[in-house]
Amino acid sequence: MAVTPLHLGSWRTPVEPAPRLATALGLAPDDLLVKRDDLVGPGGGGNKVRKLEWTCAEAVAAGSDTLVTTGAAQSNHARLTAAAGARLGLRVVLVLAGDAPRGPRGNLLLDALLGAEVVWAGAVDADGLQAAAERVAGEVAADGARPHVVPFGGSTTLSVQGYAAAGRELAEQVPDLRHVAVALGSGGTMAGLVQALGAERVLGVHCGAVPDAHVAVAHLLDGSAGPDPALRIRTDQVGAAYDRLAAPAWDAVLLAARTTGLVLEPTYTGRALAGLAAAVREGEVVPGERCVLLHTGGLPGLFGHAEAVARLEEGAGGSGQEP
Ligand SMILES: *Cc1c(COP(=O)(O)O)cnc(C)c1O
Repeated sequence: MAVTPLHLGSWRTPVEPAPRLATALGLAPDDLLVKRDDLVGPGGGGNKVRKLEWTCAEAVAAGSDTLVTTGAAQSNHARLTAAAGARLGLRVVLVLAGDAPRGPRGNLLLDALLGAEVVWAGAVDADGLQAAAERVAGEVAADGARPHVVPFGGSTTLSVQGYAAAGRELAEQVPDLRHVAVALGSGGTMAGLVQALGAERVLGVHCGAVPDAHVAVAHLLDGSAGPDPALRIRTDQVGAAYDRLAAPAWDAVLLAARTTGLVLEPTYTGRALAGLAAAVREGEVVPGERCVLLHTGGLPGLFGHAEAVARLEEGAGGSGQEP
């Protein structure tokens, strides 16, 4: 079935200079631009919107009336699925890993605001979470509704086209683009950019959301499970775990905020900037090369990140480590 994407956002998203952040990283002032995919779309916006334009189109074309998707408790994808469903008049059921927290914060507050139903799957791995979503979809169908399961992170070989379009948009906006740094979660955003721009220009920074980032991106690119050595993926920014505060990512969040007024968060965009900073330090990225940091959104996650909130309540100091 041929699927035409729905319109959930107003494209193109802007590209902004960040000269003070560039020089803080050791680049020339004009070297760094920030592409603001955090600004556009329902539910606060973020990178999941471009993918949801495809997955929701698929659901609507199939006659579905209910979106079922999965994520971590602070999933931006779950929140944006809730928002897309609200806009399209679809019921949304979010199947989230873990147990209901006592005081919902961040994305969970917005999930409630947007009217999504939340089912807690308990302590499960990725397969367990997907199985829970299939179970919930079965219950929804047994009640006479027509569910559509949106896979983890909204990343499918179809929805990758949302970021292929973003990559073409970026190439028009920044013709001399040499590197685009992007946080890698489920891998669809990086995969789409690689389709449009080629592997050599895309620097993915693994955030620890999937066990093997290389396999995740390669699988979305060509359906194979084999790693592609041409993909540039940094795996050094994960730290203790996906949902823990990694010191370099936190330093990057503070640096972006204090040099530029640019608000990142520790789970995704902070890791992306920390990965770019490491690439500059190691000479993989050198002054004079045009770089773009893709701002993929996620601001509500900052308010739902207990360790980050605790740091700010303590007086906001850095990680205590040298950058
Ligand atoms: C999900 C997410 C990412 C990663 O995107 P994937 O396509 O899942 O790799 C990056 N940044 C933010 C803020 C996200 O929510």
